[in-house]
Amino acid sequence: MRIDLHAHSDRSDGTDTPADLVRRAAARDVDVLAITDHDTTEGWREAADVAERTGVRLVRGIEVSCRFAHAGVHLLAYLPDPDYPPLVAELAKVLDGRNSRLPAILERLRHLGIDIAAHDVRRLAGDAAALGRPHVADALVEKGVVASRDEAFATLLGPGGPAYVDRYAADLETTIGIVAAAGGVTVVAHPWAKRHRHDALDGAEFARLRAAGLAGIEVDHQDHDAATRATLRGLAHDLDLVVTGSSDYHGTGKVDHELACNTTAPEELERLLDLAKVAAGAADRDTPGVVGV
Ligand code: AMP
Ligand code: FE
Ligand code: FE
Ligand code: ZN
Repeated sequence: MRIDLHAHSDRSDGTDTPADLVRRAAARDVDVLAITDHDTTEGWREAADVAERTGVRLVRGIEVSCRFAHAGVHLLAYLPDPDYPPLVAELAKVLDGRNSRLPAILERLRHLGIDIAAHDVRRLAGDAAALGRPHVADALVEKGVVASRDEAFATLLGPGGPAYVDRYAADLETTIGIVAAAGGVTVVAHPWAKRHRHDALDGAEFARLRAAGLAGIEVDHQDHDAATRATLRGLAHDLDLVVTGSSDYHGTGKVDHELACNTTAPEELERLLDLAKVAAGAADRDTPGVVGV
């Protein structure tokens, strides 16, 4: 069983369409795939249609941009009712924040003598509902300012970089509650990835988040080294949190994140889906369920 619970399509900052993402999963013998675009469910329908035809089991999710102790934290939300009004409202606020950040980033770039037009960024973002720095990076690559998204983040767009601009993010604990009320379950994505500066989340905080309804921790991720994974795994075990592993695939948008480069154990997925059933029952919402089950 190959289970990959974190992957992006071009509805956010991945480069594959939702259909191609699922086809790629099928071609690479991924049995269970979660589509988890940043802050949007736009790719769900197309991915579900292809999943039904290819036999890939599809878990519909979202990677919600959250904030905790002034640091950005990504929260994977699986199987919530996408029409639950408080969830819809929160995602709309995050998407608004993404849109209103763009002129500010472009202004900073102009001060650095780099002229990038908003319409070029939007053209490169194509079908993305969640406009992000990676799309600005693509425009910088197109202009020949940098060679890759990686270089754009390292030299200009990353935290502390000269064109870095913060944006609105949802409160972490509140969002865990909203997703639970929408009948879904939550897993903190790559909590100790250096580039996200999530180190504020320690054992005591994870215990608090678990009490607030958190289901799991994404332990096996490319941005965690072996020692980090071991520590996080122990922490998850002590707190009885589900342990997941995923690729965080972005197509050609991120190197070294091929589908199923990390995977989730079947028994951990089972625990997660059991918790989702409990959440769906308690919330009494129209939750999406796993495609192909
Ligand atoms: P944003 O969502 O606009 O704040 O941009 C953050 C996103 O950029 C993250 O979700 C990553 O997927 C992506 N990202 C961060 N660092 C890099 C990098 N070095 N190369 C490519 N993508 C990156
Ligand atoms: Fe991303
Ligand atoms: Fe992330
Ligand atoms: Zn991601």
